[in-house]
Amino acid sequence: SPQLVWFRNDLRLVDHAALCAAAAAGPVVALFVLDDETPGAWRMGAAQRWWLHHSLADLGQRIAERGGRLILRRGRAGPIVRALAAELGADVHAIVHHEPWAAVQEAEAGDVRRHHGATLAPPANVLSGTGGRYRIFTPWWKKLLEQMPPPRPLPEPALRWADVSALPSDDLAQWRLRPTKPDWSTGFGEWQPGEAGALARLTAFARIAARYDDTRNLPSVEGSSRLSPHLALGEVSPATAWHAIADAVGENTAEPWLRELGWRDFSANIIDQFPDHGDAPNRDAFNRFPFLDDPAGLNAWQHGQTGYPIVDAGMRQLWASGWMHNRVRMITASFLVKHQLIDWRHGERWFWDTLLDADYGNNAQGWQWVMGSGVDSSPFNRIFAPVGQSEKFDAATYIRRWVPELAKLPDGLIHAPWEAGVALIRAGVKLGRDYPAPIVDHNQARARALAAWGQVKAGE
Ligand code: FAD
Repeated sequence: SPQLVWFRNDLRLVDHAALCAAAAAGPVVALFVLDDETPGAWRMGAAQRWWLHHSLADLGQRIAERGGRLILRRGRAGPIVRALAAELGADVHAIVHHEPWAAVQEAEAGDVRRHHGATLAPPANVLSGTGGRYRIFTPWWKKLLEQMPPPRPLPEPALRWADVSALPSDDLAQWRLRPTKPDWSTGFGEWQPGEAGALARLTAFARIAARYDDTRNLPSVEGSSRLSPHLALGEVSPATAWHAIADAVGENTAEPWLRELGWRDFSANIIDQFPDHGDAPNRDAFNRFPFLDDPAGLNAWQHGQTGYPIVDAGMRQLWASGWMHNRVRMITASFLVKHQLIDWRHGERWFWDTLLDADYGNNAQGWQWVMGSGVDSSPFNRIFAPVGQSEKFDAATYIRRWVPELAKLPDGLIHAPWEAGVALIRAGVKLGRDYPAPIVDHNQARARALAAWGQVKAGE
């Protein structure tokens, strides 16, 4: 009987256990459903939809080159899959995903053969000595390492296709996944969505992976892999990524990078335990945090107009390119929740809509870590000083690129233009006219945040 492969955020042909199992069992039908219903408010964000468009075009073409056809449908995924399987008399195969809505989709789809492949190891297999789930990264990572390396990636299987020429399929262009503003296609030279692009990115990173630990925190340097949008839609499997980098530089040298890749698995482990991780603080006391209602402040942050160059550079990089450097994600997120006292969920939503690599678990994990409300997170009272961070991580070149108004300031003064005095005049910059004056004073904001934290602590 036909074997229906239900592609979700695993848009690849290599190391796809569901595709391999299907191919071994019979003629294959390939399906993708654009489901904006089951995830509710977590429907895919605008930036990632742009990526999805190109990724589906790529997958459809690869399948066509092999004589098949990718069927596209739009609507609530579970019932669509169930009906199509019944119509074809097909078995259904899918890779397990850990977003809370993925399990709902599977339950509604009926009898689905579930395969591993979205993470390095199934999160439910990484258990403590007493059989419980971990909530702290380091012991979890040690345990995961006992099960690593992951199995070698499965090669793309030889495919035989079921005849689906009569089946209706949507026209990808009609889905209108590409936003007009901002149009990331201007950055298309830099990003290459799809499986080939993912593998090319991995090969390019393998050449610099040995330097990762020295350069990954420097936003001016291309020190990280930029694989995240590819991993988010599963164009490359984490196991493929693991082996490519471990083979290139050796597992020991690769460890700092493999550990970051591990954080992605850890996020899946956390959302298995806290499905509402994206909406609710893990620590209850944070429900009482006295956030400010400040739409103007939120708007200034979103559009890179806070007057803090490192924050503005990051937010503008995000808007223009759909990606932001990890160190700067931490700085901008911390600024929003601690300096502006704005609810982390506003920032999380903005990231969700503007990141090409938007990932429910990683995003929630990042925000709860910064906020201090996560089960494993930075304590709230550790408040990043944006200027200190900017100097420490040598962000002058980065700021010049994204905040061109300040480009003429010397390296040492670009981090805090309000203290640049004569250099500001020489550069022809007037604060409040050419570039905003700081939206908050660091010391006052810090004191205000600590006072708010005092209220939370009193309730814990
Ligand atoms: P590399 O350093 O090359 O790392 C390789 C891969 O490991 C990444 O592609 C990613 O899949 C994974 N990874 C790396 N760091 C982390 C991390 N801290 N947590 C989980 N996985 C990690 N990452 C997302 O993929 N999607 C998000 O929506 C997201 N939102 C974030 C929000 C905040 C507030 C913060 C602080 C971090 C967020 N991250 C998110 C984590 C991290 O910033 C990105 O994964 C990373 O910057 C991607 O760049 P890269 O591919 O070059 O990473």
